[in-house]
Amino acid sequence: MIQFKGVNKWFGKLHVLKDIDLNVAAGEVVVICGPSGSGKSTLIRCINRLEKFQKGELFVDGTPLHDHSTNLTKLRAEIGFVFQQFHLYPHMTALQNVVLAPINVRKLKRAAAEELGREKLARVGLADKADSYPSQLSGGQQQRVAIARGLAMAPKIMLFDEPTSALDPEMIGEVLDVMVKLTSEGMTMCVVTHEMGFARQVAHRVIFMDDGSLVETGNPHDFFDSPQTDRAAQFISKIL
Ligand code: ADP
Ligand code: MG
Repeated sequence: MIQFKGVNKWFGKLHVLKDIDLNVAAGEVVVICGPSGSGKSTLIRCINRLEKFQKGELFVDGTPLHDHSTNLTKLRAEIGFVFQQFHLYPHMTALQNVVLAPINVRKLKRAAAEELGREKLARVGLADKADSYPSQLSGGQQQRVAIARGLAMAPKIMLFDEPTSALDPEMIGEVLDVMVKLTSEGMTMCVVTHEMGFARQVAHRVIFMDDGSLVETGNPHDFFDSPQTDRAAQFISKIL
């Protein structure tokens, strides 16, 4: 579903992605972790071309992203992205946020989009919050609306960039629960997170990044219990 081949990216002189080779299969759940500034966000933002890269190849469901003629609207319609800071429109209700892209991009009629939107809100446990504005929702609820918004586009891939990092501790579980449910439905997911419990429960693979490189990859139990590199061991000891 996702294939990085020798991807390199620079911000000016700063080399932020170094020879990234990575394949993610359909239905696979990959957790990406590593120190701040190691390139995790940049890596997953390349997958829906929120970031360009200068060297290498990247295919998403067969579409070449290094080819600059790629239709980004179509690509992004197939990839849901959930950010640390929710990014909901504050002047729109939960339902309006969720139906915006289905109406504008998928060209659904409003009634059909709203039916779909209510179904997605129900799926994240927010059937009763359709008419609430973001300011009337907790952080955990806002993040679940953001997930419902991604799901409303029937994406092939869901990307999550530290989806629980901005949440109060008591709200982390409700967001992770929704994400766990998605993994059991066969969604292809790349999740930047330091939530070890989530990784151990559902990740097929953990990828450790440091200084722009993929340093280590393994199943979550091997990675957390017996990391192969000093850098990974040091990182794990800090998040424990
Ligand atoms: P992470 O998500 O692992 O914390 P990032 O992918 O955000 O790391 O950042 C990787 C490196 O790229 C960092 O050194 C960061 O400062 C730098 N960086 C990120 N975004 C930009 C940008 N828009 N312009 C310049 N440098 C950036
Ligand atoms: Mg980041």
